[in-house]
Amino acid sequence: MEILVLGGGVVGVSSAYQLLKDGHQVTVIDRHPPGTGGASYGNAGLIAVGHSVAWGSPKALKIWFNTLFHDHPVFRMKLRLEPQLIRWGMKFIAQCTNAKAVRNSLDKHRISMYSQKILNQVVEETAINYEQNRNGLLFLYRNQQAFEEGIKHSHLLQGAGQILETAGKERLLEIIPELEISEDHIVGGIYSPTDESGDSKIFCEQLMEICRSMGGTFESDVTIERLEASGDKIKRVVTNRGVYTADRYVLCLGAWSPLLVRASLGIRLPIYPVKGYSITVPVEKDNTPPRIGGLHEEDFLGFSSMGDHFRVSSVSEFSGYDVGHTPEDFEHIFNRAKKLFPNAGNYDKAKCWSGLRPMTPEGTPILGTGPHSNLFYNTGHGHLGWTMSHGTARITADLIEGKTPEILVERMGVR
Ligand SMILES: Cc1cc2nc3c(=O)[nH]c(=O)nc-3n(C[C@H](O)[C@H](O)[C@H](O)COP(=O)(O)OP(=O)(O)OC[C@H]3O[C@@H](n4cnc5c(N)ncnc54)[C@H](O)[C@@H]3O)c2cc1C
Repeated sequence: MEILVLGGGVVGVSSAYQLLKDGHQVTVIDRHPPGTGGASYGNAGLIAVGHSVAWGSPKALKIWFNTLFHDHPVFRMKLRLEPQLIRWGMKFIAQCTNAKAVRNSLDKHRISMYSQKILNQVVEETAINYEQNRNGLLFLYRNQQAFEEGIKHSHLLQGAGQILETAGKERLLEIIPELEISEDHIVGGIYSPTDESGDSKIFCEQLMEICRSMGGTFESDVTIERLEASGDKIKRVVTNRGVYTADRYVLCLGAWSPLLVRASLGIRLPIYPVKGYSITVPVEKDNTPPRIGGLHEEDFLGFSSMGDHFRVSSVSEFSGYDVGHTPEDFEHIFNRAKKLFPNAGNYDKAKCWSGLRPMTPEGTPILGTGPHSNLFYNTGHGHLGWTMSHGTARITADLIEGKTPEILVERMGVR
């Protein structure tokens, strides 16, 4: 079949690879070169299966409510009448019960675990190299009470088969000796030995080349303007570079997905662009970045070493589609990163970036078809899209093939 993939972030490129493996003719179109136009460019790089936790919970609701009235360095939201945000917010609030937090976390964990298995297959098949570090991730705590709560929460994913080790101060230093010179007062952590990290932009670039060698086509500078449908079928995709037609279409436009399907087809996808920021710090001769990546739970900081660069990300901001940034936006990241890992890299030469997480209220992606039988959705991967992309690419290829996916994806349809 001829398949047109809309969007060349990590979700689009991974979908192209799985579809090519199944013998389809695949074209990917994007307004930017693969991996550079959206969130896949500068994310924290964590394949964080052991941290597949839903955002929505009673505790999260309290935090978000407070941010409406008080400035918070990480959670940033201003009250305003934005219909997309209001609709999304109402749906998010409905997910903030204990029961739904558990259900959504387990759904995310199931996709993430499957996705890591597919990633391992891709690595084996292609020998792709994207600065991967397969020595696990460490989730750090400064506060003893928060650490104890974290241990309690870890039981949920342990029950679902995730290996998670509680690590006291001494064990932490064995896992990340670079914490020895930290100016932060870390009391403990949770070590997820099977987790990993890598640079998703490099992954996209490398996988694109592999896809090309399999016959795939990638076109950049193509801005998708609208989808045109007739009855229950998409007939064509109109772009600034002409019209594209195919047997099947796969929607992988990340945070921008709802804009296109709302304007073209009148379909509302519950995805909001949640802005995040990252710094990429060059690692020079005498620098000692942490040997594995992880998260600082109280500072909401994700970090990973990627060969000659060290990446740190944070912040969840609800401010629409603006991806601009000012130096103040990065204060929290610089302050905390320098305290935690003072010698990780040359912070004076850091490159600053911001991107949009395509968040659904549940935190799980949108998969399968909606009212149009030849339009497949693979979008809405939120804050764990690098982690979940490989699995949802395989699931999408299976659905296109008419096969039952290997894992349950109920509740993840167009909603
Ligand atoms: C700060 C930050 C840190 C993160 N950290 C992690 C992490 O550690 N681990 C993890 O698993 N996930 C992480 N994520 C989430 C992850 O990066 C995203 O979920 C994932 O990259 C989404 O991939 P995507 O391919 O769906 O979207 P994107 O990478 O955003 O790609 C969408 C593509 O669509 C294109 N596009 C959009 N509209 C049009 C149009 N009209 N015409 C043509 N092209 C168009 C864009 O150019 C872009 O290339 C993080 C995200 C952020 C912002």
